Amino acid sequence: MFSYRHAYHAGNHADVLKHFVQVQLHQYMNQKDTAYTYIDTHSGAGVYALDSAQAVKSGEYLEGIARLWERDDLPAPLADYVNLVRGMNPSGKLRYYPGSPYVAEQVARPEDRLRLFELHPADTRLLVENFRKLEAHKAEQGERARGRRILIEHADGFQSMKALLPPPSRRALVLIDPPYEVKLDYKHVRDALEEALGRFPSGIYAIWYPVLQRMESRQFADRLKRLPAKEWLHVTLTVATPGPDGTGMHSSGMFILNPPYTLEATLRETMPYLVQVLGQDSGATFRIEKGTQVTGTANPRGL
Ligand code: SAM
Repeated sequence: MFSYRHAYHAGNHADVLKHFVQVQLHQYMNQKDTAYTYIDTHSGAGVYALDSAQAVKSGEYLEGIARLWERDDLPAPLADYVNLVRGMNPSGKLRYYPGSPYVAEQVARPEDRLRLFELHPADTRLLVENFRKLEAHKAEQGERARGRRILIEHADGFQSMKALLPPPSRRALVLIDPPYEVKLDYKHVRDALEEALGRFPSGIYAIWYPVLQRMESRQFADRLKRLPAKEWLHVTLTVATPGPDGTGMHSSGMFILNPPYTLEATLRETMPYLVQVLGQDSGATFRIEKGTQVTGTANPRGL
């Protein structure tokens, strides 16, 4: 059950898409004064060393963040994300990569709350340790600790999310990013979202998923489109033509329920650049589609 370790995949093209969009979502949430709750149902370890045995073995980050690292022509929204990674690597050498909890910690404001769930015992320990180091570093810099700003739990993210909705401030950003190693993850995501929308229809829910040949993956976005959310936005990034054997992950998607109204334009500005820089062959491409909910059924306005 616990075979997946994100350390092998940190900073790959799928992380680039996910964390770039995550930064955009936080920035949008930050525009209103009221504090919000960020819920990370599948947190991972929070910070990854790209010179670890796992990262070196897979070398996936070389086809992801490493391609953006030294670019000086980044579109502004993408620069916000790459600068966050640069901030973790003050020596100028790409050594550390942020997981989604770290991205949230950096972009959310001191008054916002982070609720982080992780089921793998070793990754939970790493997550706790990485945040302990971060807090210690901040204390050294003279920053005041905020007692209950961040809670980390060794727990099932799907179950834990329910208990937090609706949040006291009625503002929430949720990231759902399971490993999808077991087919049931696709169903768990859909079921959890149905329940979450019942409890808190106006939350922003961002779901990452791998675009694969397997049926569950191919049908996944269509299933999410039928959820009872007012609006959705769906973006996929493909970096290479899938091989004939269908192995490898060359494409991934972010599906956002109740997206910020600014996000589509940001994606249209940025995705062509990502395709150009991360693309590995002529199959590299992106797709953006959106839809609205009309009396119980989603009405796609595919673009
Ligand atoms: N969101 C992280 C990021 O962007 O940096 C990466 C998460 S990784 C893709 C998925 C994580 O979910 C793994 O660390 C895995 O151990 C954990 N996991 C698997 N099932 C889970 C569950 N039911 N609840 C919480 N965590 C789970």
